[in-house]
Amino acid sequence: MPGGGVAIAVRGWLVMGRYRAAYYDPDGERHAVPTFPWWSAPAGLATRRQLRLQGLRPGRQPIAAQILWRGVGGVRVAYLYQVSLARPRKPATAAQLAALERAMAARRTCSTCGFERSYCIPLSLGECLDCAEGEFLMGKKLGVALAVLAVVWFVVKSPAGSAGMVRELWSGLGDFMNALAGGEG
Ligand SMILES: [Zn+2]
Repeated sequence: MPGGGVAIAVRGWLVMGRYRAAYYDPDGERHAVPTFPWWSAPAGLATRRQLRLQGLRPGRQPIAAQILWRGVGGVRVAYLYQVSLARPRKPATAAQLAALERAMAARRTCSTCGFERSYCIPLSLGECLDCAEGEFLMGKKLGVALAVLAVVWFVVKSPAGSAGMVRELWSGLGDFMNALAGGEG
């Protein structure tokens, strides 16, 4: 990039804040690779992703430069390649497509019930929605069963005659149901 050097340098000075200057190293004197901060990379260079958008891939060329910026979790890097040395992207082979399809099928398959779903299994659940819902309902049933057991245990173990206790509980339950129904109780 002989012609654009001065313009790049000027632009670099204008664009960069003080800490960004640490990432401006166009000759790679400090970083081994020509290094630029965000937005000041010279024309003719592109990231792998930008190449892909143009239907290109880097091919066998080495990394031409890098962009450094302060991002989440510290200094981040993006590698740049010469667009002029890029190769057209090869269409995916049948084997690659098959591998992709297998990978997607694995992501759609529930590890609990083993069914392949029409959607990807949510990582937060780790299983399909049917399984997750089933466990939720099971949990509710278990909770009710435990509550009933607790009441029975309480009645059976209570020292003050169980018959009277059952009657008391029963009328209490009736009052409760009436209150729920908005009755006079
Ligand atoms: Zn499932």
